[in-house]
Amino acid sequence: MIASFAVYPTPLLGLSDNPDVSRGDDPVNFLSMSKLTRTGTERLDCRLEISIRWPDMSNPPSPPAWTLTAVQELMAAPLNDLLYRAHGVHRTHFDPNAIQLSTLLSVKTGGCPEDCHYCPQSLRYTSGVESEPLLPLDEVVSRAKQAQSAGATRFCMGAAYRGPKERDLSKILEYIVAVKALGLETCATLGLLDEDQARRLAEAGLDYYNHNLDTSETYYPEIITTRRYADRLKTLEHVRQAGMRVCCGGIVGLGETVQDRAELLLALSRLDPPPESVPINELVPVPGTPLAHAPKTDPIDFVRVIAVARILMPRAHVRLSAGRSSMSRELQALCFFAGANSIFYGEKLLTTPNNDADQDHALFAALGLRAEGPLETGARTNVHAD
Ligand code: SF4
Repeated sequence: MIASFAVYPTPLLGLSDNPDVSRGDDPVNFLSMSKLTRTGTERLDCRLEISIRWPDMSNPPSPPAWTLTAVQELMAAPLNDLLYRAHGVHRTHFDPNAIQLSTLLSVKTGGCPEDCHYCPQSLRYTSGVESEPLLPLDEVVSRAKQAQSAGATRFCMGAAYRGPKERDLSKILEYIVAVKALGLETCATLGLLDEDQARRLAEAGLDYYNHNLDTSETYYPEIITTRRYADRLKTLEHVRQAGMRVCCGGIVGLGETVQDRAELLLALSRLDPPPESVPINELVPVPGTPLAHAPKTDPIDFVRVIAVARILMPRAHVRLSAGRSSMSRELQALCFFAGANSIFYGEKLLTTPNNDADQDHALFAALGLRAEGPLETGARTNVHAD
């Protein structure tokens, strides 16, 4: 009698990334059974063949196609179950104790014609943010050097535009060339881009382009009316076609429902390919903006968003972005456990305050975290898809 079983290593079953079966090509043969008969015990000789099939890592299986219902179930799962799963995915794809550091500089502040209800840089609101022209090149370079010596590996340049005007774009291209020459990764967030603008940014050496979806497509018209969701998706398409990496995330605390959060995360994960970098922001309510009095997000709900983002986009750097300065150390630690592995580092995020660098160093020391080096910014490649 021959019984044959195929045993899959545990990662394929989603249980662990450390299978405790040893790899070998020979089937394992063992088993002897006996049965009781009226005349006594009769020995049955059986051979059990176990063949261990290891996945072909050169051709990993496609990630599962998530549905809205499945994402909603994840969002509603018992917190411990959700954290356990998210942390397992995180460990499979990244060093869990390494955090990527990005620094964001506003290279052109305020005076934006758009009406994003959360943004103090819109000229429609009296938030107290003054309009400032593009910074001189030497100032951008000097700020990039400071960020680099403080440990940042990526330098993001943000400008408050609907989209960059021609005369500004040529200056921004110079920034990119100069910052790239320092050995930093470059990122820019300049609003909507057409195909040609995306190509020129890529040619200048821009590594990442940030353009957030902000919220679900359903809730989006409640937050922004001057540009459509489809316009954002078009810009992301141009960025991809130009060969740049995508940084795209959203904001929690705009008054959206849990379903909106699930829809946002699903939309992000369905970008093809999904973004390499996913900033998750908590709204920082600014006086003078329409969302100045938005209620604070429950911290546990925020952690859930991080965890679900990690599960849906296993290879992305999930960035704990705006709002971190009002989070306790414990909440940040929980976000790191749930799968956040990138932060904005530096005293300001465009126009809103950010954590003090000394506080961040103390937090990293307390948690045993280290800053991810410049050569580690891609997710591990020797692992299968979830
Ligand atoms: S978020 Fe960007 S596009 Fe919207 S108002 Fe602010 S600067 Fe303008």
